[in-house]
Amino acid sequence: MKKINLLLTILAVIIFSACSKKLKPSQVTKDFYTTRTDSLVAVIEQQTATSLTDSAGVAIPAEWVGTVNFNLRKPNYVIIHYTAQDSVAQTIRTFSLVKPQVSAHYVISGNGKIYHMLNDYMRAWHAGVSKWGNVTDMNSSSIGIELDNKGNVPFTEAQTKSLITLLAYLKRTYNIPQANFIGHGDIAPGRKPDPGILFPWKRLAEKGFGFWQDPVITEVAPADFNAEIALKLIGYDVSNLPAAISAFKRHFVQIEDSPVLTPCDLDVLFNVYRKY
Ligand SMILES: [Zn+2]
Repeated sequence: MKKINLLLTILAVIIFSACSKKLKPSQVTKDFYTTRTDSLVAVIEQQTATSLTDSAGVAIPAEWVGTVNFNLRKPNYVIIHYTAQDSVAQTIRTFSLVKPQVSAHYVISGNGKIYHMLNDYMRAWHAGVSKWGNVTDMNSSSIGIELDNKGNVPFTEAQTKSLITLLAYLKRTYNIPQANFIGHGDIAPGRKPDPGILFPWKRLAEKGFGFWQDPVITEVAPADFNAEIALKLIGYDVSNLPAAISAFKRHFVQIEDSPVLTPCDLDVLFNVYRKY
């Protein structure tokens, strides 16, 4: 009988430790942080003037002087993604490996748990080749948030609630403008579709994160309305116009994402672009 009790206790401990297993940083990640932090400190401590030459190749006189008034640059955009992976554990593993060269500041699981993976002031590698307005290095100016979702199922209520709370914190802390809460698909049209057509952009806009069309559109697009200029004004890279149209529709219309603007899509675009 005693043996059975002991066996049951051991089994309970194993089950408990399996359930409560935390996705802590591995030793490899910790060691990597130490060397990476050292190299960043070395950059900050660099005290040499930038050397420049004039058109004749003559060195322009320059001298390092230094100032005491500085801090780190702040993020000014939030880029939302879906992971398109099988689980949070898989995403965290991918972001903890050197080879894939991808990361994000936050990962939010379907049950609403937030995994903070990188200090907000650091530059994560989530945007890739992208452009929004005239910003061509989105990684340098943004926070990346990955939602554990495959793209073809609705986002859970717990996940959306955690996201909204996180966005409120980021907006307040870094004074991020409402217009600057956007999706990966917005900044990389034709290359990335996330967070996709099922993402609750309307609900986010109601809370002050990103824009959405008015509840009732009273003014239709005039006959001479130029959709390409409007998309560009919002921020879309229109070098591939059909891709930009699809990206706009996935975010602001969310009925279908064919690369053609219907009269209804045009009215939405006319309504939305005037908010920028
Ligand atoms: Zn993405």
